[in-house]
Amino acid sequence: MINEKLATVKKNIPSNVTLVAVSKTKPNELIEEAYKAGQRIFGENKAQELKNKAEVLPKDIQWHFIGHLQRNKVKYIAPHTSLIHSIDSIQLLTEVNKQGLKNNRIIDCLLQFHIATEESKFGLSLEEATELLNSNDFLNLKNIKIVGVMGMASFINNEEQVRNEFIRLKDIFTQLNNNFFKKTETFQTISMGMSGDYQIAIEEGSTMIRVGSAIFGNRN
Ligand SMILES: *Cc1c(COP(=O)(O)O)cnc(C)c1O
Repeated sequence: MINEKLATVKKNIPSNVTLVAVSKTKPNELIEEAYKAGQRIFGENKAQELKNKAEVLPKDIQWHFIGHLQRNKVKYIAPHTSLIHSIDSIQLLTEVNKQGLKNNRIIDCLLQFHIATEESKFGLSLEEATELLNSNDFLNLKNIKIVGVMGMASFINNEEQVRNEFIRLKDIFTQLNNNFFKKTETFQTISMGMSGDYQIAIEEGSTMIRVGSAIFGNRN
């Protein structure tokens, strides 16, 4: 079942697009099924849940943290996560850096942008991100690396609006790349697209999609 759904999603995406299988709320048995089918990157949105799963599931799984992250929870994921998608403040990034240092590692991070019209979605504006990247605090962080951007489009049945939101994120990526990351080759990731809209996201330049229900079924 899961291997068939996984195969269907993979068939629809080009080889340069990374698939994050969003396993939040799902039991380890289902993750193991996807693992047996070859999937190695999984996404979680609760810190404690990521930690619990990472401690018992195979060590070559790459755990991405995709949800809103509270500073006091960073310590749970710092030993385990290979990419945090949801950096939305210098304070959070500073805590990730502190926990990276404690774990003797550099933690890859994406800046999350608010691209949807919905008020409830988290994320930075381009102005806020520019301020963050220009700050002295940022320059002192040696145990984090900003490798790209992430965003969630509005949950609406309006393809044109969703497309425009993805175009906006791609544009933000390009501007940040030109202004801050020109000399590095590590700023590469545009994390956008979920079960309902990943085709549109890929058409607009996504390099990483986060797909849950299309692989694991609906969540309660
Ligand atoms: C839950 C979640 C997803 C996956 O959503 P689906 O619609 O089930 O594919 C992707 N990104 C984020 C940030 C999520 O919280």
